[in-house]
Parts: sequence; structure tokens; C-alpha cells
Amino acid sequence: MAEHRVPPTPNNFHVWFNYTLGTPPVLKRAIDILIGNKRKFDAQTNREIHESYIGSKATDEAVAYEVSQQLHSVMASAKQFLTTAIADNRTQMAAINDVTERTEAGVDPKLLIESLMSELAKATTRATKLEVSFVEKSRELATIRDSLIKSEERAKTDTLTGLPNRRALEEFFRKAQLAAMEQDDPVSALLIDIDHFKRFNDEFGHGVGDQVLRLMAKVLREAVRDIDLPARYGGEELIVILPNAGLTTAATIAERIRRLVAECHISRRSTGEALPGITISIGVAQFQAGESMSDLIERCDRALYQAKKTGRNRVVTEAELVPEQRATA
Ligand code: GH3
Ligand code: MG
Ligand code: MG
Repeated sequence: MAEHRVPPTPNNFHVWFNYTLGTPPVLKRAIDILIGNKRKFDAQTNREIHESYIGSKATDEAVAYEVSQQLHSVMASAKQFLTTAIADNRTQMAAINDVTERTEAGVDPKLLIESLMSELAKATTRATKLEVSFVEKSRELATIRDSLIKSEERAKTDTLTGLPNRRALEEFFRKAQLAAMEQDDPVSALLIDIDHFKRFNDEFGHGVGDQVLRLMAKVLREAVRDIDLPARYGGEELIVILPNAGLTTAATIAERIRRLVAECHISRRSTGEALPGITISIGVAQFQAGESMSDLIERCDRALYQAKKTGRNRVVTEAELVPEQRATA
């Protein structure tokens, strides 16, 4: 930590302790890449590493604990099943030995076989009961696993638009970022903002505004490629992460989205009344090796600001900004 000038805070210790252990491997890879790129471990980078790789672990651990408790119960049930089956097996072996000895001693074989059969019947009943409880426990575990998968999906989805939310966006970006740095492929991002949305809400009501947001999400899903991730970043701001796309490709996709939105006809669902068209402005930037998602979005935001300033309903890429517009405000 001293070598990379990382301040000795509890969170940083947590991160670097895990880095030393190499867990999770993705944390180690991310830090190694940052070191390889000679990135400074400033306060923001340190905070982002902690939030991305350590912070969310708390919930994951809770989920893992729940599943492990259930697994424990299934294993205990399986163990009981086996122990009883083995014990029954021993009893049966002893009974068979006993029958053999007593037959040799001249005891009526019919009586001996009856006692042997009754011993076997008891063992079968015990085994059947245990089997039922074992199957039930396994089924419970499968249900829990399914509901965990569903709740994990819900936690990554925005309820209004059904788009992936910020959490999903961060996860997707982390993977795209690592792949881009490893394979030297470009990744770009679009920051999309609805024009004069406040005015639209004020005039037609928040409910109609929500309807517009849902429509934007639909257009976005249809306009992007399968490998892209459209997400709801904040209130009326949407983001698309475009793997395998340089600035020019990203600008073409952005222009397609802008045009599709401008061509939409919106009407009030309750009355069918036609509403004025909606437009969006888009800022485009390309990921630079080693930078964080917030760095990239900040550059998108500067291009977006320029799109708003120069008349809205347009796409501006970071390449179109003059040096003063690119500088941090
Ligand atoms: P600009 O063209 O400069 O972007 O103008 P604007 O009015 O869109 O600007 P601003 O970003 O200030 O306003 C955003 C508005 O978005 C304010 C808020 O009412 C609206 N908004 C944010 N989230 C939601 C939402 O979930 N539903 C609805 N209906 N409106 C939202
Ligand atoms: Mg806005
Ligand atoms: Mg807006």
C-alpha cells in the first residue's frame, strides 16, 4: 500500500488485504491492471474499488449464509438417512446370522423367516420416511435457490422502466472494462437526457412523464445491439455501454436512437389525445484504459452539456469539444 501511496484507512486495508489473498480474483485483476497502467490510487479510485469489490459483498455474504444453512439442513437429512440405512443393514445381517445359527440348532424355519420379514418391513418403513423428508428438503432448497436468482435479478432492474439499473450497469461496466483493457478493444458510452422534461411533466403530469420514460426504454432496447447494455442511470438520464465500439460507431448508434425517439408519436393513454413530440440529447465518450466509470460518464456529461447548449435534440461526441469544454469545470 505504501508503494502505491494508498492511505492506511480501514476500507483500503480491507481492499489490499483481499488483494494479497487474491480474493475475489476479479479484484486482484482490476488492481493489477491499474498498477500496470500506472494509475494513481487517489481517494476516488480507492472508494470505487472498495464499493465495487468489497462493499456489495455484505449482501452476497448474507445470501451465501442463507443458502449454506439450507444446504446444511439437506446434508444433515442425508446423513441421518445413511446412518439409519447402515444401522438397519447391520440389524438385518445380524438377524440373518441368527436365523442361520438357529436353523442349524433345529428351530422351526417358518418362525425364523417371519421374524426376519418383520425386521425387514420395519427397516423399509423407516427408510421410506427418511427418503420422503430428504426429497422434501432438496425441493425446498431448489425453491430457495430459484427465489434467490429472481431477487438478484430484481435488485438489478429498475422498476419503472424495466431497464437494468445502476447496480447492473456498474457490474456490466466492470466486465467490459476488464475485457477492453485485456484485449485492447474499444468501449464507449452514451449519456442520454430527455429535453425539457421538466416542462413536459409540469404540463401533462408526472404519470404521463413516466409513460414517456417507459417509451424511451423501449426505443433504447430496440435500437442497441445485443452486446450493448442500456440502463437507467438516474431520474430521466439513461446510459448505454457499448462494448466493441469506438467513438464513430457509438455516435452512429446514438444518432439512430435520437432519430427513433424524435419520430415517436406520443398520446395520452387514457384519452388518446396526441401529445407534443419528445426529443433527447446524447453525449458520447470512449473509455480510456484505466479510468473509472465515473470518469467516463463525466466526459459523456460534458459532451451532453454541449448538445444541450447548442440547441438540444442532437448527438455530441467528446471529439467535438474544444479543449476548454473538455477541461474539468
Ligand atoms: P433539459 O433539456 O435541460 O434536460 O431540461 P429538463 O427539464 O429535462 O432538465 P432537468 O434535468 O433539470 O429536469 C429533469 C426532470 O426530469 C425533472 C424531473 O421532474 C424529471 N424526472 C426525473 N425522474 C423522473 C421520473 O422518474 N418520472 C418523471 N415523470 N419525471 C422525472
Ligand atoms: Mg437531466
Ligand atoms: Mg432533461
